[in-house]
Order: sequence, then C-alpha cells, then structure tokens
Amino acid sequence: MIQYKHASVAAFEGYAGSSRSGFRAEVENQRSLGQLDNLLTYFDERQAGATLSGPAATRIAKTLDSILDNLDPLPAMIADRGRLRAMLASLARTLHVGVLADCFFDPGTAACLKRATGATGPLTTLCQPTLCPNACITARHRPAWARAAEEAANLLKEKRLSQLQRSILQQNLERARTVLNGIDKDRSAPGS
Ligand code: SF4
Repeated sequence: MIQYKHASVAAFEGYAGSSRSGFRAEVENQRSLGQLDNLLTYFDERQAGATLSGPAATRIAKTLDSILDNLDPLPAMIADRGRLRAMLASLARTLHVGVLADCFFDPGTAACLKRATGATGPLTTLCQPTLCPNACITARHRPAWARAAEEAANLLKEKRLSQLQRSILQQNLERARTVLNGIDKDRSAPGS
C-alpha cells in the first residue's frame, strides 16, 4: 500500500496529472485506499478514547462519533469493517495526511486557498495548521512540533536578531508550545 503524505498532492499532480495511460486512475485509486486506511486508524483510536486537537478537531470528532453511534451495538473493531469503510468513505476522500497537521480538505474554508488563485486542492506550502478550519492535529504530529519549538528556542539565543526576527521567532515558539500542550492533554490521541 502506498502511504501518501501531505506533499503527495503536489507530486501526484506532477507525475500523474497529464497521463492518459490509466496511470492517473491507478494512482488515484491507491490514494483513496490509503486515505480510507488512515481514517480507519483515526476511527479506531477515537473509539479507544483518543481526542483530537487543532481547528478541525470538533468537526472530525463529531463525525467519527456519529458514525460510531450508527454502527451496530457491536464494538466497531468487530463490527462489519466493510460497512464501516463505506460509512467513512466520504470523509476519507477529504483527508490528506501531513507532517504538522492532517488536512480534512474543504475548499470553502481552506485558509491556503485564500492566499492563492487557481488552486483546487490543499496547498501544503501555504498551510496554516493552527488557523485553518480543515487542520486536525494528533499525537503523531508531536515530534514535528517539538522540533519546531526547539529550533525557535535555539534561534532566540542568538543576540544579533532584529526586533522583527525576535518577535516572529517568539510567536513561532509560543504557537508550537500551545500545540504541544494541546496534544499532551491527551496522551492517547491517534498516532501516539
Ligand atoms: S491551510 Fe487548511 S486546507 Fe490548506 S493544506 Fe492546510 S489544513 Fe489543508
């Protein structure tokens, strides 16, 4: 199974965007399966008690919980996985796994699309994981945020920074620490 990461959106368009050989359809099919598997992981870990953070957390948690409510009284782990996959398919199609956050893409609210014209999919280089309503953060993203906090803290030790540089780094550090605190509130979030 190909494990698609956030940046795969750009790569996918680049490699498969113009092919007429059926390669694009095959890549798209594999991507959909990967998205569904990733969402099943979300679902299973949510069922095990994990919480989510980030701006999309409430929306995604609510959707997953309502699917759980609609399943048979059987625990979802032993319920009909085919049925579960069908119920998750729609949300899975929007999921793009990322390093700092996962994107449950909705073009109507996508923060990145407001800063670019002509794009129709997630723009990872313009991603605003703590602001965009489509961004969902889990414990799997913790190492990247911890690295960001450490880098900002190290750079702030430099004495020759301008006031602007210092202010930006301070903001980055505070943002990363806020995210880390949000993740650490629930050590059993998906990916932990
Ligand atoms: S800004 Fe929002 S829509 Fe764009 S890539 Fe990031 S999470 Fe997705």
